[in-house]
Amino acid sequence: MIPTLTLKDKVVALFGLGGSGIATAQAMIAGGARLVAWDDNPDSVARAVACGIAVQDLREADWAGFTDFVLSPGVPLTHPKPHWSVDLAHQAHVPVIGDVELFCRERNYSGANCPFIAITGTNGKSTTTALIAHIIKVSGRDMQLGGNIGTAVMSLEPPVDARNYVVECSSYQIDLAPSLNPTAGILLNLTPDHLDRHGSMERYAAIKELLVAGSDTAIVAVDDAYCIAIADRLEAKGKKLIRFSKDQVLANGFYAQGANVFQAEQGQATLLLSLDGIGSLRGAHNAQNALAAIAACLTVGLSLAEITAGLRSFPGLAHRMEQVGHAGKTLFINDSKATNAEATAPALSSFDKVYWIVGGLPKSGGIESLHAFFPRITKAYLIGEAAAQFAATLGSDVPFEISHTLDAAVEHAAHDAGQDKGEEPVVLLSPACASFDQYPNFEKRGSAFRDKVMTLAGFKPIGSAD
Ligand code: ADP
Repeated sequence: MIPTLTLKDKVVALFGLGGSGIATAQAMIAGGARLVAWDDNPDSVARAVACGIAVQDLREADWAGFTDFVLSPGVPLTHPKPHWSVDLAHQAHVPVIGDVELFCRERNYSGANCPFIAITGTNGKSTTTALIAHIIKVSGRDMQLGGNIGTAVMSLEPPVDARNYVVECSSYQIDLAPSLNPTAGILLNLTPDHLDRHGSMERYAAIKELLVAGSDTAIVAVDDAYCIAIADRLEAKGKKLIRFSKDQVLANGFYAQGANVFQAEQGQATLLLSLDGIGSLRGAHNAQNALAAIAACLTVGLSLAEITAGLRSFPGLAHRMEQVGHAGKTLFINDSKATNAEATAPALSSFDKVYWIVGGLPKSGGIESLHAFFPRITKAYLIGEAAAQFAATLGSDVPFEISHTLDAAVEHAAHDAGQDKGEEPVVLLSPACASFDQYPNFEKRGSAFRDKVMTLAGFKPIGSAD
């Protein structure tokens, strides 16, 4: 954990005692803060008490005595309306901050020379964060991975020289981190998301911009209008900026053409490496993630050889186009994290011939937006509540069956793909739906898929010898 030495002997309040809230509270107590904490959920309060955290209903607290108010990122700061604790903090002029802010203050205070890569964007944050962390780790450097993925940021090891931090930041965390100052800050893409919590697309984009604006080096994808505007603004301010693109050739920056990655300076392009054959980084969306990782790792001093080795050995993240393994020639891919059509699109676009397992609890619009990918689908296997609706959308364009359950879908798709004459037929679970009709969450759905695939005759995990 990172004890908050900057809060030693200070009287502080915290609201939100979920997993990261408890971890943050413990780091504050370890640093010598005089902390009182609260949550609207009595069970969370009881858990905090069991962890030795002092609790008080903050409606009854003396707010004039607090130097800082730490809010968990899940609690509304502005929209749909500020949480009551935020109103009380504002009335008492107490700064409202979050765990990433505490991390930045401690890193600054430590004086350690520890590179800090922060990653944000609407999609691909976790993949890019895990990829960068993997590259740094296999290069043999000291690496800490956390934030909005895995370990809460204040539960990481404390800052020391040459320790590399790779931190995924949600918009909520950025909104609560006025001192955010990464060595390299990455903005991957911006599409409408969480607007109920941010009020408008403009405000959402403005929050994301803060991460790159505060960075020593800003690394910005220029593949959508919001990110292009941000890159232009940073450049106009004289900020150190690296542009990257999965879609277009750049005169300055990093770009991909097919699997080839180029670095261009004043119109002179150099071929850096190829992503060809890296199964965990299939598809244009993953080229965007890889470009960000390459730019960030070069920025913090890794060599191209180290980066290439890390890219080649990246195992990918569970449930995000995860390669489960082969049964015969058939490759099985678990993309259970794709809980809407927008998230399924990159997976379908990554393969030419797909046996597609789809369905669950449908989102508004269903799979209408995926029409362009229908020619790639050899057959669809429909599961869950969405089956009838999706059958109507597929109509006569795509052969399909209503399999009802994931188990039946895997069995039937594996059988059909086994008859395919192609080199490597693909069975893809990319449901474009929530899981709650049949599973508690997308992770359980993905694990059920994986477990079922592993029972298939002749199953071999990725990387095993033939
Ligand atoms: P996040 O952490 O931002 O939710 P993930 O890395 O967990 O992102 O990926 C979630 C889903 O988003 C993946 O299943 C994939 O379909 C899609 N995705 C991944 N990277 C990108 C990207 N760069 N652009 C668009 N979609 C992406």
